[in-house]
Amino acid sequence: MPISQAFQDRLFPVLKNIAEHFGTPFHIYDETGIRETGQSLIDGFSGIEEFREYFAVKALPNPRILAIMKDMGFGFDCSSVAELLLSRQAGGRGDDLMFTSNNTSYEEFSVAAADGGSVLNLDDITLVPKVPQMPELICFRYNPGPRYSGNEIIGDPVESKYGLSHEQVISAYQEAIGRGARRFGLHTMVVSNELNYRYKVETTRMLLELVEKVSAELDIRFEFINIGGGLGIPYKPEDKPLDLHTMTGEITNLFIRFKERNGYMPGLYLESGRYMTGPHGALVVTAINRKDIYRKYIGVDACMSALMRPGMYGAYHHISVLGKNSHLKTETVDVVGSLCENNDKFAIQRTLPEIEDGDILTIHDTGAHGHAMGFNYNGKLRPKELLLRSDGAVELIRREETVDDYFATLAFEPDIMKL
Ligand SMILES: *Cc1c(COP(=O)(O)O)cnc(C)c1O
Repeated sequence: MPISQAFQDRLFPVLKNIAEHFGTPFHIYDETGIRETGQSLIDGFSGIEEFREYFAVKALPNPRILAIMKDMGFGFDCSSVAELLLSRQAGGRGDDLMFTSNNTSYEEFSVAAADGGSVLNLDDITLVPKVPQMPELICFRYNPGPRYSGNEIIGDPVESKYGLSHEQVISAYQEAIGRGARRFGLHTMVVSNELNYRYKVETTRMLLELVEKVSAELDIRFEFINIGGGLGIPYKPEDKPLDLHTMTGEITNLFIRFKERNGYMPGLYLESGRYMTGPHGALVVTAINRKDIYRKYIGVDACMSALMRPGMYGAYHHISVLGKNSHLKTETVDVVGSLCENNDKFAIQRTLPEIEDGDILTIHDTGAHGHAMGFNYNGKLRPKELLLRSDGAVELIRREETVDDYFATLAFEPDIMKL
């Protein structure tokens, strides 16, 4: 499914003007759509006493976007020093920040603890003695291993590097208690871009059962479970959207039954990235070349540095051509960037209206893991980011990279070590 009709109706009539004013390529994000999705999560989980979305910062780490999340009352899910700093700049403090790192370094622990701290979500039992100062509130990431089969992107939990094993769970909380932890959470993330709502229901069931088991053994209570991110969005026209209504209903029922058995309801935390912003972004490019060899190629003015997903995962991103619909004469083409890798293709053998140089193409659903995943291989630079605000204005929220940025790490004090 392409970006929503509502986003298209807001964007397409003004897109030519935006492209003329700012120049292509750019990612553009739809504030109205982001807020509507945020509200749908809040409404969906309104039957749970404490629900909170911790936006997965890595999906769209732009301060202007983080400010929108903050405004909606959301926290931030971080897994690096830079993401912690960005979230604090956006006003997140203490319990607003969930630090879900893995293979965590001493520096990361220090930054996580600084400046009001954050909720530490430990990835392994061996990290317990390595936490410089055990906070009162501690969470562990659980890897169910063979008890659960994950999905395509995350893979089989047995092969996944994340989390502690089933056998380690009790000892992990025991050790944390020994070091001073008094408040507890439990986290897992076993799927990614999953459109079947049942996975999250089963994840919730699994975590609530584990909470009961650990609570009984150690005589502790859990303040929250965190069911991670991984809610899917329909990238392909034939994909069915996630059934949010049924998912939130069934999860809420599990919480109600937990309360009946245990006399209290833990909080429910979610770390959605893709679901929050993915469908509310698009990469807008201009066609600059076409060539006709064994296949037809449309060359555009952006490349993989702006959007890795097709090259990295073979991911489908819908494409539309401004002012031309598919009732017109079509042709089958590969839409390509300029990077010297043959997987630098936004679309492969896609049927599109006939494209001429100068046509504006919209590559859909780039609002999560799009710009953020970009890289500089081959000296390719990342494009700018724009926000289509709810008041109708368009705001530049990140400039494009320049060659000076590319050269920035080459400006340093000489350091030659003689041996
Ligand atoms: C990447 C990630 C997320 C967000 O995943 P989405 O697929 O964008 O929802 C959430 N939590 C953790 C720990 C992650 O690594």
